[in-house]
Amino acid sequence: MHKKLFLIGLLIIGCEKNSETDKNYDSSQKKIPNDIRWVTKSSEYDILCQQIYKNAWDNLSKILQKSDSNSCIVMDLDETVLDNSQYQIDLFASNESYNPESWSKWVNLKQAKLVPGAKKFIDNVRETDVNIIFLSNRMAKNQEPTIKNMKDLEILHSNDMFLLRIDKEDKKHIRREEIINGTGRMSQKGPLKVLAYFGDARHDFPDPNDYFIFGHNMYMFPNPMYGKW
Ligand SMILES: [Mg+2]
Repeated sequence: MHKKLFLIGLLIIGCEKNSETDKNYDSSQKKIPNDIRWVTKSSEYDILCQQIYKNAWDNLSKILQKSDSNSCIVMDLDETVLDNSQYQIDLFASNESYNPESWSKWVNLKQAKLVPGAKKFIDNVRETDVNIIFLSNRMAKNQEPTIKNMKDLEILHSNDMFLLRIDKEDKKHIRREEIINGTGRMSQKGPLKVLAYFGDARHDFPDPNDYFIFGHNMYMFPNPMYGKW
């Protein structure tokens, strides 16, 4: 009897050890780097993102609820709303680093998932009259698969606007100006008041000032997997 229990115990420990080890390795048994593992496996990343979205809603709900359709929030997509960690795992497994071709292929697979907390926050914004503008450096030619991916994730609304990148010169600050001034791609809609910005990189935000303040109406998400540091 004791021997049986001992063997069962060993089996359980063995299984736990295996699952502990498996989650740290990719399909070819190479150990996934810490940055990707932190995003994909840690409860800390999950909690942190949910915490940021919760704080954002707690701080912004009143102003959003009393604002009209001449206002918007501006959200980056990748690693702010959409989780592309699987692309990073795939790159690692094939010994590649980021390149526009493989990235475009990934975008066209439409398999991005959601950053924790994003859907709940976006659902809350839908209850208000405020527009959401997705301002992303995904290429404009990939708008269709991006929209399909977001539709599948049930975060798309017919009023959503997309300001994706046309070319290298089409920097984010140029598109932010178009929103504020109602020019270029925003000329049909007219100028909108931006109530908040969301992103995972410094270039997703204007310079802070008396109105735009990190932690108040600008929210930065953690992304240790890539960026310009
Ligand atoms: Mg991003």
